[in-house]
Formats: sequence, structure tokens, C-alpha cells
Amino acid sequence: MLATEKPSDTESAVYRTLLESTNAIPWKIDWQTAQFAYIGPQIENLLGWHPASWVTVQDWADRMHPDDRAWAVDFCIAQSKAGVDHEADYRAQHKNGEYIWIRDVVHVVRNQDGSVESLIGFMFDISERKRTEEKLLSLQRELEELSFKDGLTGVANRRRFDTVVEREWRDAQQTGQPLSLVMLDIDYFKQYNDHYGHLQGDHCLKQVARMLGTITSRPRDFLARFGGEEFVLVLPATDERTALDIAVRCRDLIAQAHIPHERSGIGTTLTASLGVCTMIPSPEDELQPFIERADRRLYQAKQQGRNGIVTSFR
Ligand code: GH3
Ligand code: MG
Ligand code: MG
Repeated sequence: MLATEKPSDTESAVYRTLLESTNAIPWKIDWQTAQFAYIGPQIENLLGWHPASWVTVQDWADRMHPDDRAWAVDFCIAQSKAGVDHEADYRAQHKNGEYIWIRDVVHVVRNQDGSVESLIGFMFDISERKRTEEKLLSLQRELEELSFKDGLTGVANRRRFDTVVEREWRDAQQTGQPLSLVMLDIDYFKQYNDHYGHLQGDHCLKQVARMLGTITSRPRDFLARFGGEEFVLVLPATDERTALDIAVRCRDLIAQAHIPHERSGIGTTLTASLGVCTMIPSPEDELQPFIERADRRLYQAKQQGRNGIVTSFR
């Protein structure tokens, strides 16, 4: 058939059959009257509304999710006025009240003088694709969360600690509030593993992490597993006296749990040593030496016999 020829009745019937047997739903809107000149009968399968109920552009807009309506309608009208082919994803309401994700692909048909004659398009059901996208997004979020979590204890990992402590350090530099660190290392943990086995050691680490997780309550207080059997608390806007109180609570909680440790060099139950340091950092101060100071104090606590706490005042 030549482009200028009108299709014969037989040809029209073939085209109609073709159009109406696809999964995509064809439609045509007359621009002057803003009314549907045609909509494929498949629409009823997809959205439950009978083809005859699609009369005006308003029917199309009314059956759209309220959150999508404003932008989708504005966008389609603006593009159509400009004579630009376009596509829009939005949620269309099924007759039963549910929403179905649709991709509407629109071609603008123009008159000889360039004015818009009609819009023809296809609606595609993209709900499956949207479900996959949402699933992917949620998996991505989950993965992100996992990458910040210590696999054994479920508390934040070292990577997360690095990010958080840097952020809090900068914040303390700006606000002039004291930042405190409490470093904790379990005493004679190598002997614990040797005596009770590595699996029991894992269990013990989980127990300690759970206990430490209950100690602070302010939203910005932060606990991480710093290394093997070392944990760290980042305490923003906390002076050294308060940080020491918190360190005492950590030590007491572990002691009161009475976790048997027959091979401990200082008793028969599990203990830990702690180093505390506090600083109001000025803009020139560096974070690393601050963390090292907390670590050094922890080492001093070990040297002083373990199960103890070292701060600048004791
Ligand atoms: P100190 O009192 O001086 O801290 O002695 P320690 O034995 O606790 O210190 P050391 O650093 O020599 O040993 C730490 C032990 O922690 C060695 C390592 O096997 C154990 N450890 C580290 N990570 C894990 C873990 O994920 N699970 C278990 N079960 N043990 C771990
Ligand atoms: Mg240790
Ligand atoms: Mg250690």
C-alpha cells in the first residue's frame, strides 16, 4: 500500500486485529476535543475499565495515582503542545482500586500546518519491571547496610567507625563540644579461645557486643567492633568525666555477666580493659593521634594489670 492510499476494509481489519492482539494497549486522542477516538479493548483486561468508559482526557487523568497525576498530566500536555513525542511512567488505577505501573509512549500527529491533530500511543504494563526495580533497590539498601555491619556481632564495623568518627571529629571542631572515645579490649581472649574453642569465643564476642549495645542511649552515641576482640564507643558532646562513667558501666556490665574464663590471668571470669580519651579539637588538630591516644591508654590499662580503665585523670 502506498503512503497516500487509504487502507482497504480488509487491510483495516488486519491492522485492527494486529493492534488488538498485542499486550500493549493502543489509543488515540483527538487534540481538539480532548476525547478518546479509540482505545484498545485490552484496556479492560489490564485495568478493568470498559473501553467505552474512556471518553475524555479527564478520564485518563482521574484514573491516575494522585501522587503521579500532577506531573504526568502536566508533562504529557506540555510535550504534546510542543509537538514532541514522549513517554511517561505512572500508576494507573485498576477498577478494583489497585494501582498498576504503566508506561505510556506517545506520538504526536500533526496537521499540514504543524498544529497538533491527535495523539496516538501505547500503554505498556510495566508493573513487573517496577517490582524488579524496587526489589533491586531494597537489595541494594540491604547490601549497603551489610557493608557497614560486623558479620559476627551485628554492630557497626571498622569501616563504619572510620566514617562516623571522622564526621563527629569535624562536628566537634565546628561546635567546640568535647568528643570522647572509649576503647575496650577483652582480657586474655587468646587463652579464652584456646580453652573454650573458637566457636565459644565467637559466642562470647556476640554476648559482649550485645551488652555494650545497651550502655549508651543518646542517638549519636555509637558502638563499633574496632578489631578482633576490641570495641570502641564514639561519644559526641561528652566530657571525660561522663565518658569515664560510661567506661565504668562497660567494665561492670562485663564483670557482672560472670562469663566463666578459667584461663584468665587475673581471675575466673571474663574481664576487659579500657582506655578513655576526650578532646575539644581545634581546626588544626588531627584525628589519628586522638584515636592512638585512646589506644595507648587501653594498653596502659593492660600493663596496670587489666580489668581497669585509664583516662587522663587515672
Ligand atoms: P590481652 O589481655 O593482652 O588483650 O590478651 P589477649 O589474649 O586478649 O590479646 P591478643 O590480642 O593476644 O588476642 C586476641 C585474640 O582474639 C586472638 C584471636 O584469636 C581472638 N579473636 C580475634 N577475633 C576473633 C573472632 O572473631 N572470634 C574469636 N573466637 N576469636 C577472635
Ligand atoms: Mg585482648
Ligand atoms: Mg586485642
